[in-house]
Amino acid sequence: MELSFLGATETVTGSKTLLDLGQKKVLIDCGMFQGSSEVQELNTKELPVDPATLDAIFITHGHFDHCGFLPVYVRNGFHGKIYCTHATREVVRLILEDSVRVQEFELKEGKLTDMFYSAEDVERTMEFFKVRELEEEYSFDEHVHFQFYQAGHILGATSLLFKVGQETIYFSGDLGREVDLIHPVPKIPKEFDYLVLESTYGDRVHEKVDYKEVIKTHIKKIKETNGVLLIPAFAVARTQVLIYALAEIFKEEKYRLPVFVDSPMGIRATKLYEKFIDELKVSEKDFLSALKRVKLLEFGNDLKKFSKQSGPYILISSSGMISGGRVLKYFDKFGKDEKNIILLAGYQGEGTIGKRLLAGEEDYVLFGHKLHVNAKIDQLPSISAHADKTEMLSYLKEVKGLRKIFLNHGEKESLESFQEFLSQNLEVDVIIAKRGENYPVEV
Ligand SMILES: [Zn+2]
Repeated sequence: MELSFLGATETVTGSKTLLDLGQKKVLIDCGMFQGSSEVQELNTKELPVDPATLDAIFITHGHFDHCGFLPVYVRNGFHGKIYCTHATREVVRLILEDSVRVQEFELKEGKLTDMFYSAEDVERTMEFFKVRELEEEYSFDEHVHFQFYQAGHILGATSLLFKVGQETIYFSGDLGREVDLIHPVPKIPKEFDYLVLESTYGDRVHEKVDYKEVIKTHIKKIKETNGVLLIPAFAVARTQVLIYALAEIFKEEKYRLPVFVDSPMGIRATKLYEKFIDELKVSEKDFLSALKRVKLLEFGNDLKKFSKQSGPYILISSSGMISGGRVLKYFDKFGKDEKNIILLAGYQGEGTIGKRLLAGEEDYVLFGHKLHVNAKIDQLPSISAHADKTEMLSYLKEVKGLRKIFLNHGEKESLESFQEFLSQNLEVDVIIAKRGENYPVEV
């Protein structure tokens, strides 16, 4: 058995890990590289493996950096099975369809010279999916069995255990958090030999601040000024966590303010959360009652009515870094007025408006005109969907038989500090995975 890392090495995107089982070869995740142009360039390089030679691809969850490259593999001859949970398949569909729209837009704008794939490629990709249940053991062939485990993080997200003869290898995928409002706590098997572990926050301990308290403070302000609290949020997971958090705040504080969601993808994702409500940590009754408190702006009429709405109210829109989508229009509309608040909910990538706002930049050019920002800017603390280093250690402490950990899905500094932290606390060999190198995993 041999592992090779084709992506997500010294970076957090492009997750693709090749597991060579001797007779068969499988890929775990098939993500797109995102971020700086140097990193994105990796998407255009010759594929490191011939997709036609792969027997299957396993998808841990529907984030773009874990599934966004699937149609490229299908276009280049992949014809095996794609395994994941039912909810993940639906999230993947949403993410890939959105990617086609973004690519079409970027092509028109001249930011892209060619599409990576078309809507037809996505359709064809979806035909290869085979959904599997959590924790059921499935046989892949005579010697290889696999099981998906709950990873929290986002709807449908899993970790993946392979049993290969007497050996076991566990792929963490992206691990969620114990304190997540709606996603379950990751469930880790009690025993395995090898571990491929994500390291996004391997150098960090999340702040203990309750982000609901921060939201409450901002709500108080907009109630005083009749302003708008604009929350740019990722469409999948973050938007639904915020919807739930707001419902809890209203219950605790015994008041209500109108809440709107204007994001076509956020609305589709919210409907998936409703469809797979059994997979959430919260009760069906509580989640449905939270949804009732929110107006999803789906149709022209809703938007028309909404345009006459006066403050105070709360508006959630995508993208989460104000790098595109409907939120741009609202940033333009509400950014200039000091009575409004823009509350950034999560990681802000380099070069995005979100990042520039946090750096204190006040002047922007949008839709062909200038915008001077007077709105108050803030960022929600500790709302990440990734476990931090102490949470990951607590998940792994009880695992028996662990021989070696391969770290991927992290930036360089984070990987090095996490390597030291884990080897000290678990007394196990910890390796930082390098792209293109092969790692034998036999005894
Ligand atoms: Zn993820």
